[in-house]
Amino acid sequence: MPGGVSSPVRAFKSVGGQPIVFDRVQGAYIWDVDGNQYIDYVGTWGPAICGHAHPVVIAALHAALEKGTSFGAPSVLENILAEMVIDAVPCMEMVRFVNSGTEACMAVLRLMRAFTGRDKIIKFEGCYHGHADMFLVKAGSGVATLGLPDSPGVPKSVTSHTLTAPFNDLEAVKALFAENRDEIAGVILEPVVGNAGFIPPDAGFLEGLRELTHEHGALLVFDEVMTGFRIAYGGAQEKFGITPDLTTLGKIIGGGLPVGAYGGRRDIMSMVAPAGPMYQAGTLSGNPLAMTAGIKTLELLHNADTYSYLDKITKKLAVGLVEIAHQTGHAACGGHISGMFGLFFTDGPVHNYEDAKKSDTAKFGRFHRGMLEHGIYLAPSQFEAGFTSLAHTDSDIEQTLQAAQDVMSSL
Ligand SMILES: *Cc1c(COP(=O)(O)O)cnc(C)c1O
Repeated sequence: MPGGVSSPVRAFKSVGGQPIVFDRVQGAYIWDVDGNQYIDYVGTWGPAICGHAHPVVIAALHAALEKGTSFGAPSVLENILAEMVIDAVPCMEMVRFVNSGTEACMAVLRLMRAFTGRDKIIKFEGCYHGHADMFLVKAGSGVATLGLPDSPGVPKSVTSHTLTAPFNDLEAVKALFAENRDEIAGVILEPVVGNAGFIPPDAGFLEGLRELTHEHGALLVFDEVMTGFRIAYGGAQEKFGITPDLTTLGKIIGGGLPVGAYGGRRDIMSMVAPAGPMYQAGTLSGNPLAMTAGIKTLELLHNADTYSYLDKITKKLAVGLVEIAHQTGHAACGGHISGMFGLFFTDGPVHNYEDAKKSDTAKFGRFHRGMLEHGIYLAPSQFEAGFTSLAHTDSDIEQTLQAAQDVMSSL
């Protein structure tokens, strides 16, 4: 396997050392093949928001397994999850299930173009929308982690339609619209960035994008693969009160099984085959096991206390980490919203990927290794957000902050 892994960031290249090989997960914890236990702040990159291997999800999966692993035909489970997603996410009037976030973003881009009859799109530097060709321009996640240039193998003719702007920079977006009048299909973004580290939107940024896209007859797409059901039950669009035209989902809605989804306005989604002419399909799409895990996960989350609990423990962690960094003499900044957080080894403030890149990544690597030795598993990259879950307790957070105190004192 290239790099010994099935997905690049897992290889620990940016933090040094060897990746850990894991054996099992439960609640807030993860165990490696040598039997070491860690408090996990990766949560399989987001899906484990109820805690790993939640007994309710596992029991439902056992029951679903008995009925078979795939139908390749409609099941009621799809209707149940579709209704839950449509009820929860403000922009969703119709939804299509796929198998990954990458697939959802790829399809939504085709749909933006199909609906508007325009080819160009705007994305933001450091935002990650999966690994499809059109998005591998100044991308986040593994591309940022490994400091890779835009990937070879992607034809210029494909990315020539992908325009980029710095996150939180409305003027840059305005300029792109002015230079490409009536040519831009839409704007896609992570409404809260997680794939260049944790970067929240500045006040007015999302509103500004909503106005600009309206003004230019372009679509606004929130890629909520990470933020959906994490920032709030209805995602960042609920939290910030800005309704995009289309949204992509993934991660949490699969409850730890492979799922993605895209959806939004009925008039736009009606273009998707077989309702309309835009082709998109999938052998395993709507898979009964994945739908089951998604349904149970959303049921567990749909509770008045979920997001206040996540906010409380995550705030304690995020604020604590920055305080400890400052007390021990390190330049640092960070933040959190609900169960998503970040820490950069730079003074900040961090408004975009350029700012994030000022971080001391070598120091982050040492911090990461030190935390591992103290039984704390953080994402192996300065440019990835961290995640908490309903299974993380106050005492897990305290243990994590104690470890951070020890590690940062000797960085
Ligand atoms: C993870 C992620 C993706 C890609 O999803 P995969 O399931 O890994 O293909 C796309 N967009 C965002 C914002 C993500 O965080």
